[in-house]
Amino acid sequence: MNRQYETVIGLEIHVELKTITKIFCSCPTAFGGEANTHVCPVCLGLPGVLPVFNEKVLEFAVKAGLALNCEIASFSKFDRKNYYYPDLPKNYQISQYDLPICRNGFLEINSGGGTKRIGITRVHMEEDAGKLLHGSSSIVTSGYSLVDLNRTGVPLIEIVSEPDLRSAEEARAYMEKLRSILEYLDVSDVKMEQGSLRCDANVSLRPLGTEGLGTKTEVKNMNSFRSLQRAVEYEAKRQREILEEGGRVIQETRSWDEERGVTVSLRSKEEAHDYRYFPDPDLVPIVIDPGWVAKLKASLPELPDARKERLVREMGLPEYDASIITGSRDLADYFDAVAAEFNEPKTVSNWLMGELLRLLNASGMEMRENKIAPADLAALLKLQASGAISGKMAKAVFEEMFATGKSPETIISEQGLAQISDEGALAAIVDKVIAGNPGPVADYKSGKEKAMGFLVGQVMKETKGQANPGLVNKLLKERL
Ligand SMILES: [Zn+2]
Repeated sequence: MNRQYETVIGLEIHVELKTITKIFCSCPTAFGGEANTHVCPVCLGLPGVLPVFNEKVLEFAVKAGLALNCEIASFSKFDRKNYYYPDLPKNYQISQYDLPICRNGFLEINSGGGTKRIGITRVHMEEDAGKLLHGSSSIVTSGYSLVDLNRTGVPLIEIVSEPDLRSAEEARAYMEKLRSILEYLDVSDVKMEQGSLRCDANVSLRPLGTEGLGTKTEVKNMNSFRSLQRAVEYEAKRQREILEEGGRVIQETRSWDEERGVTVSLRSKEEAHDYRYFPDPDLVPIVIDPGWVAKLKASLPELPDARKERLVREMGLPEYDASIITGSRDLADYFDAVAAEFNEPKTVSNWLMGELLRLLNASGMEMRENKIAPADLAALLKLQASGAISGKMAKAVFEEMFATGKSPETIISEQGLAQISDEGALAAIVDKVIAGNPGPVADYKSGKEKAMGFLVGQVMKETKGQANPGLVNKLLKERL
């Protein structure tokens, strides 16, 4: 019998915070650098050293918790999570167990044409581990591995969602929303490709209409939104096939293989008691002043949802445009800067969603690498609106601005692109075209409207496309 199944997904997202120094020592957190140069006795885990907690980490974690509508704990502590792993020299990770800094929050995603609230179970602070560099592309076939401890002790928050997500699309929408909130908060550089945003997905299936949870697997190693979506789709399909054949899903950790497009078994899943958590005796518990939390709350920037609503309400943007524009803080800031100088918000959003995002995607660039100053884009849109250049020219000038960062005026004068809107200059060309095309002129006069298009085309040809088409039409009609 074919049963209907429902996919249940919860996400655990690790976020590297962009503090200047590590969580328990003063080593730099900067990405990259020669292996094992950003290290000291504390983050190397040498005997006899003591961790000193970086309070900036607490501030960033609380900001994230507030933005995710969490309760902030008044009392919190650090615990040791014991396990052996070659990139974790102390053999334990300092993390938080039963008293995390934030709990019981939520965020909202767009799903099925409406909004859906996804619960946030907890947000806790911990230290990152180092990185293993394998001798070949696969851990299985490598003859050796090297360890780089520059990343050990970089501060992380782990954001754990409730199992409220029901599809790969929802998982992706949640991750995108979370990334955008963290970007607005400026607590992380949220670069998935550099590992500053990492995602594990817990996936299980249950018969549709039931409440209990099926056996889950944890899928790791997705480093883009697309691979998250593909991995969850694959894993749900794999589990459905097992269940439909009457088999049992086993609880395990699986790794997403991007190249082959499959998940593969890594290890059977540990339980919390396998880690032998206990309070870290080297770090004093954290007592939170509610006044300080209130101050942080007041300092939060306008977040994506609020900003989207403002663009719809005050600028008259369609919902769709507003959600694309506010999906990234950099893009939203840019939009505001352009719209402040060129007061046609819909035109601005069309250019950003169309031309700008297209060129950024094609060149693999981030919004912040965009060379076009907001004032220059506003100037270009004004030139187009005034008829000084045609829409087609504006796009060509825009591409040149994108490539060089030059102002539109410079590009137009360098390339001789300005539209001919001078009546005197155009009238002479129009007269010449009328004199040289007696056939089409006679056709037009006998009522064949189509002939007008031909004559306009001839004028455009004479002027290499630079004539103002509206003016050409007007001049031709006056003369015929
Ligand atoms: Zn250090």
